[in-house]
Order: sequence, then C-alpha cells, then structure tokens
Amino acid sequence: MSGYDFDLFVIGGGSGGVRAGRIAAGYGAKVAVAEEYRLGGTCVIRGCVPKKLLVYASQFGPALEDSKGFGWRVTEASHDWERLIEAKNEEVGRLERVYEDLLGKAGVEVLKGRATLVGAHEVRVNNVSFTADRILIATGATPEVPAIRGAELMVTSNDVFNMERAPQSVAILGGGYIACEFAGIFSGLGSRVWLVHRGAKLLRGFDEQVREHIGSELAANGIQMRLSSTVTAIERRLNAYLVYLSSGDVLEVDVVMAATGRRPNTRGIGLESVDIQVDANGAIPVDSYSRTSSDHVYAVGDVTNRLNLTPVAIHEGHAFADTVFGDKPRQSDHEGVPFAVFSQPQVAAVGLSEEEACARHGAVRVYSSAFRPMRAALSRRNERVLVKLVAEASTERILGAHIVAPDAAEIIQGLAVALKAGATKADFDATLGVHPSVAEEFVTLRNGRYSTQLSSRPSTDAVETAARELHRRSERR
Ligand code: NDP
Repeated sequence: MSGYDFDLFVIGGGSGGVRAGRIAAGYGAKVAVAEEYRLGGTCVIRGCVPKKLLVYASQFGPALEDSKGFGWRVTEASHDWERLIEAKNEEVGRLERVYEDLLGKAGVEVLKGRATLVGAHEVRVNNVSFTADRILIATGATPEVPAIRGAELMVTSNDVFNMERAPQSVAILGGGYIACEFAGIFSGLGSRVWLVHRGAKLLRGFDEQVREHIGSELAANGIQMRLSSTVTAIERRLNAYLVYLSSGDVLEVDVVMAATGRRPNTRGIGLESVDIQVDANGAIPVDSYSRTSSDHVYAVGDVTNRLNLTPVAIHEGHAFADTVFGDKPRQSDHEGVPFAVFSQPQVAAVGLSEEEACARHGAVRVYSSAFRPMRAALSRRNERVLVKLVAEASTERILGAHIVAPDAAEIIQGLAVALKAGATKADFDATLGVHPSVAEEFVTLRNGRYSTQLSSRPSTDAVETAARELHRRSERR
C-alpha cells in the first residue's frame, strides 16, 4: 500500500476503466472507480449493447417480408416500441448489476459522482478529496452535434434508446458507424429514413469498394440516400421538423438525429491541474503504455481517441493494469483489430483496405466477389454481398479481409485470427469451405487483380502493367 487512500483511482466506470480496476485489484492494489452516471459506460448503457438489441428487433420486420418467399403466410404483424424499450432496459439494468458485482467481488470501491483531477495524486468526488498513487482517466466520449441553426432540435445516440415512440420518419445526419447502424434500425422497424451525408460515400476510412457496395445496399433496402449533402437548418413545424438540405430539398420528419462523431470527455475534468494538453480533437495524448504527459496519470479508451472500440478500451485497460500493477509490461496492440458496423447488411473488416495496403506496400493483389446470396433466391430481395481479400503482392500474405453481408461480424472474427497468424492466400486456398455459406467464398476466391491504386478502379491494362512492374522491382530489391 502506497500511503495514499488508493493505489489506483479510476475516473469512469466504462469498459476500459472497469477492466483496469478489476485487474489491478486482482494484483492486490486498493482501487476506487468513480462513475457519474451508470456503471458499464457507453457500451453497456447507450452504445453497443442496446444498439445490438435494437438491431435484432429491426431484423424481424424484413425477415417476415422475406419469409413469404419461403411459403409463410404472414397475416398481420405490428411492432410495440414501448415493449422493446422496456425489455432493452431490463437487459441493460441486468448488465449494469453484473458490472457492480464484478467490481464488488474484486474488492473495488465504487464512488457515485463526477470526479475531477486536483493534482497528479488527488481527485475530488462530490467535494470529497481522495489521494491515489496512480490515476487512470477512462471517461470515454460523447456525441457531438454540428453547429447549425436548430441544432438543439436534434437527438443523438444518447437519446434515441429512450424515445417514447418509434418515429414514422427520421433524418439521420452523418455517414459513419452510428448513422449506418441507426438507418437500418429505424428502417427495419418501419420508419421512413433519410440518410444525409456530406461525403459522396459512406464510412470514410473503409475500403473504397466496400463503401460503394454498402451505399448501394442501403439504398436497395429503402434508405433514402442524400449524399454530398448537408443539413443547413432545422425548424420545428407543429408535430414535425423541417430539415433544410444544402441541395435545396426540405425534408419533413418526426425525428432528426445527429450521428456526426463523438468528442472525448476531457472538458471540466481538471486536466489543467496536471498540465495535460489535449490534442486538436480534445483527446488525451498517450504512449503505447497509456501514459499521459503527467507522471502517475494514465488514460485508456475513447478519451484517448486511438481506436474507439470497446474491445480496444478493454485491452488498453488490461494492458495498463498488467504493466503498472502486475509487473508484466505490455503495450497496447492496435494492429489487426477486427471491426464491424451493424448496419443491414453488416460491414466488417480486419487489416488494411486496398488503398491503405497500396500506400504501404506499393502493389497488392486483390481478390473480390460480389454475388447474390442463396437466401435472396427465394426472398426475392434485391441483395448482394461482397467479400474481398487484399494480399501483399510479393508474398501473398493477406493484409486485409472485408465483407458486406448479413452476419459479417460473425465471419470476420475467425478471419482476424487467420490474419494474426500471418495467413497467406495459399492458406485460404488450402482450406475447404462450409457449403452452402457466404463465408465459403473467402476460400474459393480466384483471379486476383494487381492494384496500385493509380486509379480509383485499378483494373485497366495500364494499371496492371504498372503494378506488375512495381512488383518486379520490389522483388529485385
Ligand atoms: P464516425 O466518425 O464514424 O462518423 C461521423 C460521421 O459524421 C462521418 O460520416 C462524418 O463525415 C460526419 N460528420 C462529422 N462532422 C460533421 C458535420 N459537421 N456535418 C456533417 N457531417 C459530419 O462517428 P459516429 O458518431 O458514427 O461514431 C463514433 C465512433 O464510435 C466510431 O467512429 C467508432 O469508432 C465508434 N462506434 C463503433 C461502433 C461499432 O463498433 N459497431 C458503433 C458505433 C460507434 P466525414 O466522413 O466526411 O468526416
């Protein structure tokens, strides 16, 4: 014991903070976790978990429609939003209690209230000061709303989980994870959905072919796409909202949702008292051991804006506790992290996009296939899935795997293991498929093309020749 009230004081009871606190306590540290809202953080309370439950809920409507092609006679079905939210709340409450129990069993003291830093060894909660040898900031991030006229009329992902009723129509601003996911949720539950995005394609940073594919799939599923368009103003009109678009169009909807990114929770937590300067995005800069510029103060999870995913925050928190309290120094590893967007269809990937792979490796070989899944044969749904592998040109080591399909998230997890193990295209080819499945396409892909991304659609002879030349040169080196 260090002579302080605690060996570790964690600010924030979300995924990263709770994991760090539990593991540190397991190593014998005296730990406190302060949480101002509810234990579990964004993921459990108003993120991944309730979102996934709503995704499940929204899939039954389209599935009922599809079932007709398989001989089902569907008479009448209606959805009860209140019942869904009630059931979702019960499950979220259960998980919150699980978090409480886990911390309690680990001997971690939970303090309810907003914590602020007072110094490198001091934190204040509800006007009570506590001292600690180490402090971990794990305060997460919060939705950001663009500064437009009528911005206060918009809801964010924090609000939609507890709306009193499902909207009949909704305009969603943004083209990232949350926008794509909620477009599918609302559409599946029967709302008319407009997706308004300032870019020409959704999901910036993803593989370009994937971005094109998901855009057309969402449109095929009835989402009204308003690309290269922004919301300039919102006005209330009786029971509806008027949403003015840069294109000149005006949408009339029940709900306007901003899904325009999240800002690290660094405001008002006393960072000035420990001389920590946030970066341009408001995030706390840290090194690979999650150390901040202030000795004894660490940060993990979305507040550091590294890779804003729950498993990453958990990994960072665990690595921090191993390093500082377990005498097992471990850096956070952000390579080869699989990720998925729970849109409908889902988008999932691991490793590099074709564009990133070309930038890093010069020339790559790309194998892809877009096809109609078997289920669509009878459902008659206008649906295509995409699977894609990006291989290093010289070694054929797989650098990236991408999929747009229902259950893409379930498929990518196994591929992530293969990529971590350094699998090559030959390893994929040597593996037999599970038939009939979408996933088997990954082991039957043939006829790759060279890509250097000299053009956005690198399939012309000129590009092929240039790519081969690059490949030959890299082999000679
Ligand atoms: P994203 O960063 O994914 O997307 C934000 C979107 O909003 C982008 O399309 C961006 O456009 C657009 N945008 C930003 N500012 C403006 C503006 N002022 N006006 C108009 N459009 C704007 O953020 P999300 O909020 O969707 O999600 C936050 C993060 O949370 C994700 O990046 C991800 O890390 C995590 N998350 C993960 C999930 C998962 O794992 N399934 C689910 C949900 C969230 P542009 O591309 O042009 O910048």
